[in-house]
Amino acid sequence: MKARIAIDGPAGAGKSTVARAVAKRLNLIYLDTGAMYRAVTLAALRNGTDLHDKKALEALTLSLQLDIRTDEKGNNLVFLNGEDVTAAIRDPLINRHVSLVALYPEVRSIMVQKQRELSRRGGVVMDGRDIGTHVMPDAEYKFFLTASLEERAKRRQAELLAAGKTVSYEQVLEEIAARDKIDTEREHSPLRAARDAVIIDTTEMTIEQVVETIIDKVVLV
Ligand code: C5P
Repeated sequence: MKARIAIDGPAGAGKSTVARAVAKRLNLIYLDTGAMYRAVTLAALRNGTDLHDKKALEALTLSLQLDIRTDEKGNNLVFLNGEDVTAAIRDPLINRHVSLVALYPEVRSIMVQKQRELSRRGGVVMDGRDIGTHVMPDAEYKFFLTASLEERAKRRQAELLAAGKTVSYEQVLEEIAARDKIDTEREHSPLRAARDAVIIDTTEMTIEQVVETIIDKVVLV
């Protein structure tokens, strides 16, 4: 089987950018699992589904046609019932609600099943919160990216500004701290490093340095 690489960590640690670059360099498929939880959140908000009603959320999640495709640059494109929602799922409104939706095991198990299907044949780089601990516990390579909260907020704000969204540094810092707290403290598949994950503190590193650190450790068979 081709290698499976799990990249987990808190919001804004650079997981997506790094995972996409590693996948490109190693000619593997990249899967952004956060995008899947974001798509469910978008659907729930559009539908007016009560985010505290786990049965309604489960029914909604089961009813969705969720497709993740990869464009020629290796970016994930997210389609919800045939509509391209790649940009819509990055809205600050989604940031504020996604961790609530991701709390429920009813929603998570549907997502995890999809993620495992996509990783069955190997040759994937998957980023998220529970990839090394739960989705692919037997992945050949596991990494956990961290960075100081301040650095992560700075990066996330720059990303949002580049996408034309004006948000203050304080707002971003508060939002990612709140999301990390929910993600870390939740009962089901909380955010944490797998025991066999390589932990990389990226606070003082460039994206290229993180990518090189990971590639150095991966031996493709
Ligand atoms: O990675 P991203 O910031 O897009 O993830 C959005 C949210 O989706 C996270 O804050 C978390 O609540 C949830 N998530 C998760 N498990 C994953 C990936 C994301 O719970 N594997």
